[in-house]
Amino acid sequence: MKVTKQRKIRVGVLGATGTVGQRFVEALVEHPWFDLAVLTASSASAGRSYGEACRWQLSADIPSPVVDAVVQPTEPDVDCEIVFSALPGDRAGPVEEAFAAAGYGVFSNASAHRQDPDVPLLIPEVNPDHLGLIRTQRAQRGWTRGFIATNPNCSAAMLTMALAPLHAVFGLKSVLVTTMQGLSGAGYPGVPSLDALDNVIPFIGGEEEKLSSEPRKMLGQLNEGKIDLADFLISAHCNRVPAREGHLETVSVALLRPATPQQAIEAWQTWRPLPQELGLPSAPHPPIVVRPEPDRPQTRVDRQAGRGMAVSVGRVRPCEVADIKFVLLGHNTIRGAAGASVLNAELMVAQGLVGISESASQRISE
Ligand code: NAP
Repeated sequence: MKVTKQRKIRVGVLGATGTVGQRFVEALVEHPWFDLAVLTASSASAGRSYGEACRWQLSADIPSPVVDAVVQPTEPDVDCEIVFSALPGDRAGPVEEAFAAAGYGVFSNASAHRQDPDVPLLIPEVNPDHLGLIRTQRAQRGWTRGFIATNPNCSAAMLTMALAPLHAVFGLKSVLVTTMQGLSGAGYPGVPSLDALDNVIPFIGGEEEKLSSEPRKMLGQLNEGKIDLADFLISAHCNRVPAREGHLETVSVALLRPATPQQAIEAWQTWRPLPQELGLPSAPHPPIVVRPEPDRPQTRVDRQAGRGMAVSVGRVRPCEVADIKFVLLGHNTIRGAAGASVLNAELMVAQGLVGISESASQRISE
């Protein structure tokens, strides 16, 4: 597959200087289909070079193509077709709407629009058909070209990836999940060091509500322009732990049709979702890595699986109070944030829903 520079789609990152914004820059700077043309942030950063405005936290250096790029104000007059939003939740709602109304395709990480009935809450491996909501959204909001598509809360992203094959094969009755979430999930500077070190904090504001509700929307059915929520319950406990990146979750699942641990493993290992079939650039192969060791997955060891886009599961065993229990792990700022959003955009390009300048099928077959 070869896509020439002039055929790439111009994209921007809103909130490019933050924790998730930096992951977007990392994912987009050499992307085969997208040309990273715009970086925005708050008024405190606008007008400065990205290298000056950004406290770069990733291990590799700031990519040279963006060091001297001038950070722009977050206004819907930037020169690109698509924007990826890494804005704070309390700012994202009206700003993302303004961009969509002005004709931009908005791929959002923020929670502001995830539960809007006409906004897809998307994991390309799980519910690509929910993109059908874009038509409803445009009709209801009077948008002809722009749209908003969201990706889930970081903990919900990896949980839903692991639940989807189980739901498809056995049906879900109820889920009990306890998270151990890395510090970068709180953005920068996030949790004060004297609170985080040598400690576990058994509360993350709003997180348990998101984790209990978002998987039910994603595993729900699109029916005449709306989503019927999947009919199962989730009980969530969310904890902040002193890991830098990566969210580990312990999960017990009651199924409609009981399964052995080996049958659950087979459901994960035989899962062949759409992004992998289409060969989307950010899709991990396999999407779920099943670890056979008794003490894996581990946060530091396994979070980069599939370049941070795969979900690792392990310790699959019978559950004394449900049917099966297991441990899962995902990278919160990649699969749980920027990487997820980029994969959403790749899916829409592949399906011809964005990339106005030429048909996606032509783009992909080159
Ligand atoms: P962050 O590190 O605090 O970064 C926030 C970004 O937004 C910065 O670029 C900041 O620019 C910019 N910003 C702040 N106020 C603004 C304003 N009034 N106008 C325009 N830009 C503004 O936050 P984060 O952790 O990257 O999270 C970003 C979003 O992603 C949040 O909605 C969060 O809930 C969501 N999310 C985060 C994670 C995660 O693991 N961290 C996972 C999933 C989803 P300045 O540098 O100029 O202040």
